[in-house]
Amino acid sequence: MSPATGPHEILRSVFGFPAFRGLQEAIITDVCAGRDALAIMPTGAGKSLCYQIPALVRPGCGLIISPLIALMADQVRAMRAFGVRAAALNSQSDDSEATIRALRDGELDLLYVAPERASMEGFRTLVARAEIALIAIDEAHCVSQWGHDFRPEYRQLKSLCDALPGVPRVALTATADVATRADILQQLGIAPDRMTVAGFDRPNIRYEVHGRDNGPRQLENFLATQAGRSGIIYAPTRSATDKIAASLVLKGVNARAYHAGLDGGERARNQAAFVSAEDMVMVATIAFGMGIDKPDVRFVAHVGLPKSIEAYYQETGRAGRDGDPAVAHLIWGAEDVARARQFIAQGDASDDRKRAETVRLNALIGFLETAGCRRVPLLQYFGEPPPPPCGNCDNCLLPPVLEDATEAARKLLSAVYRTGQRFGVGHLIEVLTGKRNEKVAKFGHDKLSVFGIGSNLSVDGWKSLARQLEAGEALVRDEDHGGLVLGPAARPILKGDVAVNIKLVPERSRASRAAASTATIADDDLPMFEALRAVRRELAAAAALPPYVIFHDSTLRAMAAARPKSLDAMGRIPGVGARKLQEYGADFLKVVARGA
Ligand code: ADP
Ligand code: ZN
Repeated sequence: MSPATGPHEILRSVFGFPAFRGLQEAIITDVCAGRDALAIMPTGAGKSLCYQIPALVRPGCGLIISPLIALMADQVRAMRAFGVRAAALNSQSDDSEATIRALRDGELDLLYVAPERASMEGFRTLVARAEIALIAIDEAHCVSQWGHDFRPEYRQLKSLCDALPGVPRVALTATADVATRADILQQLGIAPDRMTVAGFDRPNIRYEVHGRDNGPRQLENFLATQAGRSGIIYAPTRSATDKIAASLVLKGVNARAYHAGLDGGERARNQAAFVSAEDMVMVATIAFGMGIDKPDVRFVAHVGLPKSIEAYYQETGRAGRDGDPAVAHLIWGAEDVARARQFIAQGDASDDRKRAETVRLNALIGFLETAGCRRVPLLQYFGEPPPPPCGNCDNCLLPPVLEDATEAARKLLSAVYRTGQRFGVGHLIEVLTGKRNEKVAKFGHDKLSVFGIGSNLSVDGWKSLARQLEAGEALVRDEDHGGLVLGPAARPILKGDVAVNIKLVPERSRASRAAASTATIADDDLPMFEALRAVRRELAAAAALPPYVIFHDSTLRAMAAARPKSLDAMGRIPGVGARKLQEYGADFLKVVARGA
């Protein structure tokens, strides 16, 4: 690496970025000055630069402790593409001898280390003899039992840090509630006033939630708006995962499945293919995602319920790390809620725990059912004040119309009661709308007072109302036969003490939805952008690198717009650092000169 210079110069010359984002500058200035830091920043906010730049500014090598070994190879690769001397030490690294020598001889800028390795005695001896610029503890919530990924080896890190006085420690994480934050500070010996918390909002992610009526068709319609893009579909079970992946492959989509039932080799291959592809759709159970550092995931779709708002935030957070527009699309039905409630009830957790899980589930349902901005319940869950309407969620873009449906709700609840609390929503709707079919006749339901009293609402309207009543526990599912039964919230509605509103979502054309989720690129620049992508693909294949390691889409977009005519001008495009200019500049310049 070049002789040490200041943070701004490194940001520009090595990474090719014109300016710091958000809290980066404050944290980087602190760490460069030798002060500790705990940075809590959402995914995509740019945590990595917070230790990468100080490691380059300060003399010696930066140690990065990271629990995700699968990620390390990607990180090292990406750093080397910037011309940074990076290496990794973990159970999978095969050139440890050379790495150790390079560390001792002061020839490394960054060393990624697995926590198991970092807590070994031999490693202590090694770093005691080397010059260390800083210790970065990535995924710092792993140090806390309160966090969701406790890793006992993380508890050894404080003594490693203590053995290196004067070396700043910088802890980073995207998810830590208040208790976890305090624990991280204590466990790593960082003073409380060294903590910086950025907001949780991910403005480039558009949240969309849809009630299920025909799940497969809804998913298909959504995917039609995302053709040619990388995305993740989270499905609830292994078999659902396999089924969806197979049906996508049949339609010519570059899709694969990922779940715990696949053998390790196949999982690793699918993951590597996903990271390297520009257009792959991964259909996965929630096991997938830890250890994915792909910046250009354009959508995350959930078919079914995530576990909690926190899990949803994490899973959807894998979209749009590069800051370009991305979509989080969720399809849910009342049956998902019924299953989740049943799961809690049947578990062997303590009553306290079950209550806590129910509160969590209800918070999630509140998010799904809101008629207001999606970001309000989402950010409030993380203790942030409610934001102004975002303009980038389904409800902001197309405000649902609220209609009083108290009367209809009472009709539906009566129909449930009068038919004996044993039928599903389909049959109940037939009764209410006065369909004289065989089943209705067989049970004599055409003789009931509720027969045909509900023709004022459409079938979809009834379904939506039933989903809402079930989510609010006015209706619950009988565990044995799955029929709908009156729930605890039914009585106040029947008595007229509680009003029910129904959310009617206006229809909108698919085309406008697709357009709004794409990064802006002038029509005239599109062919050039595609030509640049093509050469990126060739270079990536030749170097066995994922395309985004060469340049991000945003960099290619800027190139397509600016059409640089010289290497100098090319070097001024955001994302083109000195090393990448030298390595790839000429190839991209040629494409620009050729025109498109
Ligand atoms: P995090 O670890 O917080 O999820 P990353 O460190 O992976 O985020 O950064 C997310 C993306 O943002 C990366 O692709 C990175 O290159 C880019 N990025 C980070 N900081 C800047 C910046 N100051 N200007 C432009 N792009 C940036
Ligand atoms: Zn909104």
